[in-house]
Amino acid sequence: MAGFMRYHIETERRAAVAQLRTRLTTLAEDRGRLVSDWLSTRRADAELLATSPSIRALLTAPEAGGEAQAQLVSQLDRTARAYGYSAIAVLDTAGRTLARDSSAAAPGPEAPEAAAAVRSGTFRVAIGGEGPERASLSIAVPVHASRRGAGTRPILGVVVFRMPAGTSLFPLVTSATAGTRTGETLLVRLGGGPTAYLSPFRYESAGWQATERSVQTVEALVRAAPPNGTAFGEVADYRMVSGFAAVRQLASTPWTLLVNMDQDEGLAEFYQAGRLAGLAAAFLILAFGALLIGLWRQHQRTLLLRAQIAQERAILTLKGYAEKILASIPSGLLLLTRDLRVLSGNRAILDLLGMTLDEVIGGSLDDLLRVDTLAQRAREVIRTGVPLHDMLFVAQLVSRRETRPVRITLTGIRLATDDAARLLMIVEDLAQEERLHEERRASEERFRDLVQGLDAIVWEAQADTLRFTFVSERAEAVLGYPVDRWLTDRAFWMGRVHPEDRDAVVARVRAAVLVGEDHAFEYRALAADGRAVWLRDMVHVVRDSVGRAVQLRGLTMDITERKQAADRLEELVAERTEELRRANTHLEQALTAAREAREAAEVASRAKSQFLANMSHELRTPMNAILGYTELILDNTYGEAPEKIRAVLGRVDRSGHHLLGLINDVLDLSKIEAGQLVLGLAAYSMADVVRGVAQAVEALVKEKTLELEVALPPELPAGRGDERRITQVLLNLVGNAIKFTEAGRISVRVGVADDTFCVSVTDTGPGIAPEDQQKIFEEFQQVDGSNTRAKGGTGLGLAIARRIVELHGGRLWVESAPGRGSTFSFTVPVRVERRTRVVGVAAERRRPQA
Ligand code: ADP
Repeated sequence: MAGFMRYHIETERRAAVAQLRTRLTTLAEDRGRLVSDWLSTRRADAELLATSPSIRALLTAPEAGGEAQAQLVSQLDRTARAYGYSAIAVLDTAGRTLARDSSAAAPGPEAPEAAAAVRSGTFRVAIGGEGPERASLSIAVPVHASRRGAGTRPILGVVVFRMPAGTSLFPLVTSATAGTRTGETLLVRLGGGPTAYLSPFRYESAGWQATERSVQTVEALVRAAPPNGTAFGEVADYRMVSGFAAVRQLASTPWTLLVNMDQDEGLAEFYQAGRLAGLAAAFLILAFGALLIGLWRQHQRTLLLRAQIAQERAILTLKGYAEKILASIPSGLLLLTRDLRVLSGNRAILDLLGMTLDEVIGGSLDDLLRVDTLAQRAREVIRTGVPLHDMLFVAQLVSRRETRPVRITLTGIRLATDDAARLLMIVEDLAQEERLHEERRASEERFRDLVQGLDAIVWEAQADTLRFTFVSERAEAVLGYPVDRWLTDRAFWMGRVHPEDRDAVVARVRAAVLVGEDHAFEYRALAADGRAVWLRDMVHVVRDSVGRAVQLRGLTMDITERKQAADRLEELVAERTEELRRANTHLEQALTAAREAREAAEVASRAKSQFLANMSHELRTPMNAILGYTELILDNTYGEAPEKIRAVLGRVDRSGHHLLGLINDVLDLSKIEAGQLVLGLAAYSMADVVRGVAQAVEALVKEKTLELEVALPPELPAGRGDERRITQVLLNLVGNAIKFTEAGRISVRVGVADDTFCVSVTDTGPGIAPEDQQKIFEEFQQVDGSNTRAKGGTGLGLAIARRIVELHGGRLWVESAPGRGSTFSFTVPVRVERRTRVVGVAAERRRPQA
């Protein structure tokens, strides 16, 4: 263990030194750059002045004097003030001062750096004067003749700048380590004069010899440095204190920058390293005694390591850690002398005893803690040196006046061979442990209750094999297999997944485990009784530190009911959709049939009308011929016709006229239906129409001894319409009235209102029953077959009349009651501007009865 300890300490120290090397090297390099830059600026100041024409003039013709001399002095004064120099002088190559600024501090001809600059033909720096406080920094720059043609330019003289080093250069150097506790930055001159420290020391020197020796160690270090590089190593400083240093040469100067730090501070990291403490803690917990021995060995080892390391401090630090660790150990520790008196104890034991450290130290064990046979065993351990582990006792805590179960370990320790043996007693409070244990058990129980009470299966499985390591009892209710089967059968779960779902489930789980992602999926499983059960798994993937899936934790829910409900709903929806589809089809079929029927009806109707129109026309021509010849015979144009022939011809004439009327009516009607009846619109007088009709029927009226009354308003507006057709309508109405009325009167009345003529024909005839009032307007409809046949007529008159009225945009209707006579009325607009088609309307009206 001591060996390990040594090794550990060595490693730690090496690490600390490496860290220090980086820190000091960086410091030296940064500061070196800063100082070099600063010096370059000074050099630039001097070189600027050295190229000034007045200085060259002075050096070429020194005896000019007078005015030029005075001007030069004031130029030097100005430069000195502007750049903060204490003095500026111009010297010739022999070192004679030719010009200087007016201050008292101006350098004399003795300046060695001036001579060096002339010799080398380049810039030189030097620090002179007695001690760092009065040290002055000199910068010498040669003055060259101005360039004329090729070849080297001769040196005419030298410009020397001075400034106190104590207020310019030194603070720049020393401030580098101002923030450290022991660190120091120094300028050292190596070569170009006697080797020496140039900048002020931070501490008192241990005498010139120490300083001398210290400079030698620095010199050795510089020699080891790579060219233009920085060296790091151990040095002894001017106090003879050993430390670490980084050295760096400053370019174009004989100076070296030294950054130095005491070993103490440099290794403070190492002393304080928490890692050492961490290791010590581990040892202490394992065997406190062994650590103390280790510490002692370490103590000795440290002595050997380096005389310069402050050993006591290391020990103290480690002791401090040891105490801290002791304090933080949960077990009680007591360090006892041979006669069982307390040397020390940790926080845990004080808490257990309920006492303070002062009360405990020096006391006898028996005053603190009473355990049967403990003293006996302690002596045995001391005598034999064999530790006794984990003895269980019931201890009486004297100060607390209570007893507690404890576990005690006794072990003897000896720090050094000549040291008296000590006894380390480790006391663990089992009551405390018991309580913790109890708490853990309660918490586990709570968890179990929670898990078992859940409506879902809670489970844990290995990610690679999918083997269950835990399954809650709910599993039994869901699939009907005991939990044991889940845990012991290797492929239990996979075997229960429905064969149809297995491939999908395997793929899903594999993919999720591979990327380590939480997932959820639904599938069917087969229960013990063969039922298919719908399950939903929600899985959390537990991953290790590199992200590999190691464990699966999941919830499995039985969602069979939900699924079935969803299926039922789907079925229902499908059923309704089918019904709807069927209804739709029917509807479409019905619509098609209706459309076809209507089209067929229309085609048939048009064909019929066409046929009738053609037929009537074909019949009318021969009929007119027959009637014409009959009339001629009856008129005796071909000679006297015998009476018998006249009688027959009379019948032929009547029948012919009837047939012609019928044909005319049919022709009219079919023309109307075929949309071929065209109104001849023209101006007419309604009064003339009425009078004309009255005249036409005058003979018939007289024949039946009826009275015809015509009522015309005094002034009627001029009408526009088809006069012949309106006459036809009125003639038909008046004709019917005469035909069906046996006695009484027939009145024709005309009125006008709202640009409409209203004409009505009233008779005192038999009247028409309400149920017949619509029928009589339809083609070939007669109310009473026998009556009408007796009266003649075709049953087409009213149908045609109504259509003609409607073509004019008017209406025709009847008001009648049986035995009370009838009134047929019609309206037509006074001025008809365009024809109204009524074919469709007539056809529509007929359909309901078809
Ligand atoms: P018809 O050529 O048979 O007179 P109409 O269409 O003119 O044909 O008349 C249809 C039927 O209406 C007649 O057959 C008759 O039964 C009835 N009708 C028409 N006018 C009258 C009326 N003024 N009084 C009683 N019945 C009538």
